[in-house]
Amino acid sequence: MICHIDYEAPDDLLDGKIVLVTGASSGIGRAAAMSYARHGATVILLGRSVSRLEVVYDAIEAMGAPQPAIFPLNLESATSQDYATVATKLEKEFGRLDGLLHNASILGERVTVADADPAIWAQVMQVNFTATLGLTQALLPLLQVSGDASVIFTSSSVGRQGRARWGAYSTSKFATEGLMQILADEHRDSNLRFNSLNPGATRTAMRKAAYPDEDPQVLRTPEEIMPTYLWLMGPESLGTSGRAFDAQPPK
Ligand code: NAP
Repeated sequence: MICHIDYEAPDDLLDGKIVLVTGASSGIGRAAAMSYARHGATVILLGRSVSRLEVVYDAIEAMGAPQPAIFPLNLESATSQDYATVATKLEKEFGRLDGLLHNASILGERVTVADADPAIWAQVMQVNFTATLGLTQALLPLLQVSGDASVIFTSSSVGRQGRARWGAYSTSKFATEGLMQILADEHRDSNLRFNSLNPGATRTAMRKAAYPDEDPQVLRTPEEIMPTYLWLMGPESLGTSGRAFDAQPPK
């Protein structure tokens, strides 16, 4: 396990960087967007609800951080044309992309494979994996312009070890780990880096849905797991690619 929970990022860690965060409206994605902005990045907030993204936008502006941007996109219905539009808009507004945090995901249903609904399985794969792939493909040229961009894929403990009743979600995270490793190998001669990050049990709506009987107070908050998110996005991780990280040590 590689974890940087004690990392203390300098205030100017991401000064001048352009960083896109998917699922930036709530939970871990919101905390990451705020944290990257607080450390100097211009953050592109991507998500399906403009009103929820606007709340994050306003909070970033209120901190006096660089002005963020909102890119609305529903990853459940997104097509290659939508990913290309995101890339074109980014190219026009910023000319490059220095960081990409693939964070948006859905849980799907917690049932056995025998009981899984194929339509829900496909929906989970679309949001958690296929959209991640499409967006990465479309944004690769802009990441290459940056020269030393960092791409972080959000994984899960069930994306590294299969577990009963985690069906589509677990499968989507295994696929994400595989994509990360393939990209890292394909770009091993460049400064582009691709790594995966398992947040671990974190106090969010998704965790509550997965473990309704758990006391949320025993869990770390999204803000508390940000050190590894910052380390991976910042220059100290240059040269590290194809690795699987954990944002917190296991309990
Ligand atoms: P969350 O609170 O449910 O937030 C998920 C985010 O994804 C929200 O911003 C949500 O937007 C967005 N999203 C969902 N469907 C979308 C769609 N169709 N299009 C665009 N955006 C969409 O979950 P979280 O706990 O913060 O999870 C963040 C990441 O960490 C996920 O990849 C998850 O698998 C991973 N993870 C979490 C835990 C944990 O304990 N929390 C553990 C392991 C891994 P809305 O605000 O519009 O819903």
